[in-house]
Amino acid sequence: MNDDKRFYTFVFAPTAKSPLRKFNIHHKVLYAILGFAAVGMLTVVYGAYRLAHHAVVVAKLNLLENENRLLKEENQEVNNKKELLLSRLAALDSTQRKLAESSGISRQTDLSGSIGQGGPDGDADLSEIERATALLEAELRQIKDVFDKDQVKLSSTPKGWPVRGYITDGFGMRRNPFGGGGTEMHSGLDIATNHGTAIEATADGIVIFAGVYAGYGNVVVIDHGYGITTRFGHMSQIEVTVGQHVTRGKLLGAVGSTGRSTAPHCHYEVRLHDRPVNPLNYLSVGRS
Ligand SMILES: [Zn+2]
Repeated sequence: MNDDKRFYTFVFAPTAKSPLRKFNIHHKVLYAILGFAAVGMLTVVYGAYRLAHHAVVVAKLNLLENENRLLKEENQEVNNKKELLLSRLAALDSTQRKLAESSGISRQTDLSGSIGQGGPDGDADLSEIERATALLEAELRQIKDVFDKDQVKLSSTPKGWPVRGYITDGFGMRRNPFGGGGTEMHSGLDIATNHGTAIEATADGIVIFAGVYAGYGNVVVIDHGYGITTRFGHMSQIEVTVGQHVTRGKLLGAVGSTGRSTAPHCHYEVRLHDRPVNPLNYLSVGRS
């Protein structure tokens, strides 16, 4: 074959002054060398690419591992908090149960079965916590209503003295103080003290009368609700008006001797469903 005789001749000079050198190389040998060089180059480039790719994958993996670890830690923290929350709910539930019992409220659901049982895995359901919280809240509102009503009733019940003084006449049958013999029903308590001494409301309520009324003279009548009213008679001065809301301790007027009276005193009357009852029973109620 003619081709087999083909050579490539390379001419080169190592420096500008040195003589030219030349050498011949068979074309097949040249192709082989070039082929090897090409394959070598490709291998190196591919290897470098693989290496870089690997580095990126490893970096990503490290990142994911790190993320995963953080997530696990967070998850553990959340579970710990859930456990703590459940314990606190259980404590709250136990306290509130006693409160509900003493308020006369019957429980719709027993919470003790659903809370405080998160388990060691901390797999307590958040919805359980939500449900228990909602139930406790609803029950607390009921308890509050009961307490509020009790509070209102307490502050609307006459308590203590309307004025400081001496009891000169008690509640019940008595001899007619204006002479002429016979007995009469005394519907209140007469507390004698100086003319002008302040008379105060003995409970919260609404003024339903303020003015002159028969033998009472200047009188203030307060409605306290629950069928209870109080009256303060023989006043020299009235400081409230009909329809006015008053609280216990509110100034109503001053001691006088108006109406059927012989000397300055406050005729204090307590009525239950409009029937006079003994105010003595209310003077020291809950008061030390
Ligand atoms: Zn009296």
